[in-house]
Amino acid sequence: MMQDNLFLKIIERKIPADIVHEDDQCLAFRDVNPQAPVHVLIIPRKVIRTHGDIRPEDRDVLGHLHVIAAQLAEKLGIADGYRLVINCNERAGQTVPHLHMHLLGGRDFRWPPG
Ligand code: AMP
Repeated sequence: MMQDNLFLKIIERKIPADIVHEDDQCLAFRDVNPQAPVHVLIIPRKVIRTHGDIRPEDRDVLGHLHVIAAQLAEKLGIADGYRLVINCNERAGQTVPHLHMHLLGGRDFRWPPG
């Protein structure tokens, strides 16, 4: 079930988070239920409900999320191997209705994903 947009509450500082990066376009913080030794969520400040709602005007912010993901992978010591995941809609496992990129690393990953 998709929850309220609790990531907006993190952006607005209404609920706490372990923030590892912040700038004018995005925020990155550690996942409360980590699925790998390093598990960070990178989110745009702009509310985009899910990947399927991305529009051409979102091109820059989406590119920016990738630049930050690469920088964080380096900073957090997982540049030798990491996985980026975006779950789109409930069927793919999305639970928070605010587009977010999972940055996972620090262990080996298998393919195909579950
Ligand atoms: P998804 O299932 O792709 O929508 O990812 C949502 C993620 O948000 C899950 O991995 C949760 O563990 C994580 N999460 C939920 N609430 C919080 C929170 N308050 N702070 C950090 N991560 C959270």
